Amino acid sequence: MRLSNGEVLLCWPLDIHVLTQGWYYNNGDLHQAVDLRTQIGTNYKRPVFAAEDGTVDQTQDWDGHTKTGMQSYGNMVRIKHSPYKGMTLQTRYAHLSSYCVKYGQQVKEGDIIGYSGITGNVFGAHLHFEVILNGKRTNPLTWLDGDYTLATGKEYQFNRGEHSVVIPDADKKPAASPAETPSTAPAAEEGKTIQAMLIGPLTAAEAAAFDAMAVESGLADDRYVKLAVDAEGKMFMRAATLTGMDAMRMYALAQTKGLKDKYFSEYVG
Ligand SMILES: [Zn+2]
Repeated sequence: MRLSNGEVLLCWPLDIHVLTQGWYYNNGDLHQAVDLRTQIGTNYKRPVFAAEDGTVDQTQDWDGHTKTGMQSYGNMVRIKHSPYKGMTLQTRYAHLSSYCVKYGQQVKEGDIIGYSGITGNVFGAHLHFEVILNGKRTNPLTWLDGDYTLATGKEYQFNRGEHSVVIPDADKKPAASPAETPSTAPAAEEGKTIQAMLIGPLTAAEAAAFDAMAVESGLADDRYVKLAVDAEGKMFMRAATLTGMDAMRMYALAQTKGLKDKYFSEYVG
């Protein structure tokens, strides 16, 4: 999104924000991208979100074996955003298991463009994310907010002074009201705003159960979005800008309906 000071704040392309390799790899080699964790347990196919509004200006299908050149990206999507200070701004998402957008398609920030995977030149599942300014790769962490953790603590982040996105007060989200009652749910961290809640993959029956939960918990409004259906008919849902109380209600309901394992949530302080 464009901030009131003209800066660009990209949204995280995944629901979890764990840096596994930075602008420099942990061995010191130049990476010119970030790698983000995608795997929890055995599940490595997570929805990948467009980092900002834009137009898909490149897609690539992996041939299934080549690990050099452009094919090292595997299944890949690139998006062209509005120019930044007159310069072309693009983002690239690589090693996808599949993508669900076409060349020339317009996307909105947060739209699902595909699913993370292990295609191309990879040792393990992750999302390789690039930010390209006027054709040159720049450190993605300088375009994202600070809401992330490091996989090992050794990952390169950015040099002093390099982190460029200054969020004006006017663009900051208002603080959440403290939780009303204590709860045993993990979402019960008082005074925290949940940034996003993601549920999936869901079968059609689970999705229907989830819709009912959203109504019961008073979330069946514009905060609650049915996101996408993948090739196997599995659905993902997302809700954003929930209070801790909303999140607790949803978690409690998810528990009673046997959907607890499919519930991911994230907080901002
Ligand atoms: Zn990478």
